[in-house]
Amino acid sequence: MKPELFLGNEAVAQAAIDAGISGVYAYPGTPSTEITEYIQQSKQALDRQVRCNWSANEKTAYEAALGMSYAGKRALVCMKQVGLNVAADVFINSAITGVNGGLVLAVADDPGMHSSQNEQDSRFYGKFAMIPVLEPSNQQESYNMAYEAFQLSEQSQLPVMLRLTTRLSHTRSGVLRREVLQPKSLKLPQSSKQFLLLPIFARKNYRHLLEKQDLLQEWAEQSKYNFFRDGADKSLGVVCCGLGWNYFQEVFADSEIPYPRVKISQYPVPVSIIRKLEELCDELLVVEEGYPLVEEQLHDFFGKGKPVHGKLDGTIDRQGELTTDKVGRALAVIYDEPFSVPECVVPRPPSFCMGCGHVDAFKALDEAIASYGAGHIFSDIGCYALAALPPFESIYTCVDMGASITMAKGAADAGFFPAIAVLGDSTFAHSGITGLLDAVNEKTNMLIVISDNQSVSMTGGQDSAAKDIIETICVGLGVDTRHIRVFVPLKKNHEEMVQIFKEEIEFEGVSVVIPRRECLQKAMWRMKRNKTK
Ligand code: SF4
Repeated sequence: MKPELFLGNEAVAQAAIDAGISGVYAYPGTPSTEITEYIQQSKQALDRQVRCNWSANEKTAYEAALGMSYAGKRALVCMKQVGLNVAADVFINSAITGVNGGLVLAVADDPGMHSSQNEQDSRFYGKFAMIPVLEPSNQQESYNMAYEAFQLSEQSQLPVMLRLTTRLSHTRSGVLRREVLQPKSLKLPQSSKQFLLLPIFARKNYRHLLEKQDLLQEWAEQSKYNFFRDGADKSLGVVCCGLGWNYFQEVFADSEIPYPRVKISQYPVPVSIIRKLEELCDELLVVEEGYPLVEEQLHDFFGKGKPVHGKLDGTIDRQGELTTDKVGRALAVIYDEPFSVPECVVPRPPSFCMGCGHVDAFKALDEAIASYGAGHIFSDIGCYALAALPPFESIYTCVDMGASITMAKGAADAGFFPAIAVLGDSTFAHSGITGLLDAVNEKTNMLIVISDNQSVSMTGGQDSAAKDIIETICVGLGVDTRHIRVFVPLKKNHEEMVQIFKEEIEFEGVSVVIPRRECLQKAMWRMKRNKTK
């Protein structure tokens, strides 16, 4: 078999198809989106009838994948790191119920916050849930680990986390594939109580989870993905995790690596392998992307033993992506920096696309609230959050998916007026709906603007779960139909839009205004696709 060129994310997707998944469940989020998109476009997945639509949010995605696993089939669930916060409830509990068919969570972290609110490290969630975590260091390992993770999940009867980071997710390399496996048959778990987390059963399941920890530790100690390599210079031992292994090797691309080192790609942390390094070397350096998870544990393992350097003592910058430069500096190695940014390259702040419907909506909304002063718009996460930047500077909050409605509600509860939430159609479906229900139940005096561009534009134009049913949902939740107002956000409708915003701000209660115009990028992709059909 010849190697095939895959993005890290595509390697995960292909491995999951080859391993015989029956479904992938996900909500789009950079840098994880391509895993699901690849499966959606795969003929092999289509022929095998792999279920691959987008879910309303990460929690619903995880729950559906768990349901598929309950029925005995292999399932993949994908999200970005902040999406795991949304799915955290079911994720943690799924470690206690255990799984039936293999369940793999592919979570892509975004160190450097290229398109995220934070840099959180999903390995901590894996440790918190006490499940096996795999962290590939290249595209071939992404494939191999995703392929093997389903078996590991079935063997341990636990969900397995595959932790990726941006650089690996979004770079390509040749990958050798393996035998294509048949999907599993429907088969219920042996115990009819396994998925029942009523306290009487949950206590028993939790005990099982604790009992499995020694086995998981043993597997990590013996894993082919965790290993020791010797070196002549024992003044320093280096522990590299996942992609950190590549950055470390790149520093010594033109010379022999002098230091003894350990690579970690399967967790829990393989203590005995690191102990061997610690006994051999004077000091240790930990190279890991994200939080200092391994470094912290080494302090615990070795107490006041030999010095451990890394992110905690500032040897490696705590913030941002790991780079070869950072690792080189930490090792005080002089090498030719392979790439530096020329001076003529100036930062380009993100901005709305020319002609975007959000722009017309914000121009009208800003005019309608001008007399109230600044600080009235609570935003959500999506393209419309660009209105925080000049020339608009209209919005003042952007915290987490769905928070616009609930934060504006809190402010309205405090007597703040006008309290206005702006969110998109997809964010509304993701986690705005429950906030609207709260507002309706309490007759909150607020305006909710659902700026409907009929897609999840920020991540590449995926379909929104609320497409064409926003008004129906609002009516179903109890919003007065007279205060659900829809218009097309175009320059020529400016006066009408301002008037509608003003009227609905003045209405005492919950009102919903829906500026609706398809995202221009999505429209162009659609037209291009139709042409090539
Ligand atoms: S991608 Fe679409 S919604 Fe986002 S700024 Fe561009 S046109 Fe507007």
